[in-house]
Amino acid sequence: MTGGLRVPVALLRRPGAAPREVRTPAVLDGLRIGGVRVDGDEALIDLEVEASGMDIVASGTVDVSWTGECRRCLGPVRGHLRVEVREVFRPADPHRPDEKGAGDTYPLEAVAGEECIDLGVVARDAILLALPLSPLCDEDCAGPDPDRFPATMAEDAPPEEGGGEPVRDQRWAALDVLRDPGDDA
Ligand SMILES: [Zn+2]
Repeated sequence: MTGGLRVPVALLRRPGAAPREVRTPAVLDGLRIGGVRVDGDEALIDLEVEASGMDIVASGTVDVSWTGECRRCLGPVRGHLRVEVREVFRPADPHRPDEKGAGDTYPLEAVAGEECIDLGVVARDAILLALPLSPLCDEDCAGPDPDRFPATMAEDAPPEEGGGEPVRDQRWAALDVLRDPGDDA
């Protein structure tokens, strides 16, 4: 739910209006990328909203704590993100209503006839862009069994194209011990 983060902008458009501070924890939908997810889907929003000409500008920070899996050792990884935000909401051009605003702007919404912006969308986009795609528990993480499966080999070896033996992912070697245990007996 992002409805609680809708901000009506009529007051902001009055001459001399002070910026509006929006500082609140908020639960947002879909705060995950792959195996990385935001704890409790909760973000701490700390944004200032003000009018600039016809635009509405939202700037500040969004904080989240996230949990994921180390891409090498599969151990848990935790982290905290503070994302800097500066986004512009722009009215649709009446002459080109289908065209998105110039550059990367967000649309202004009309809710019950009142002009609004949705800070939840801005916060979610900023978080999803900033979450790590494949985190490491430590830059030097050597993987679950570095002597047998050096992490650098598995990750840096380019896949072999055509001809020759297919390169076998060494990580599968761990499964060999489970296969046909009686064969060598
Ligand atoms: Zn690790």
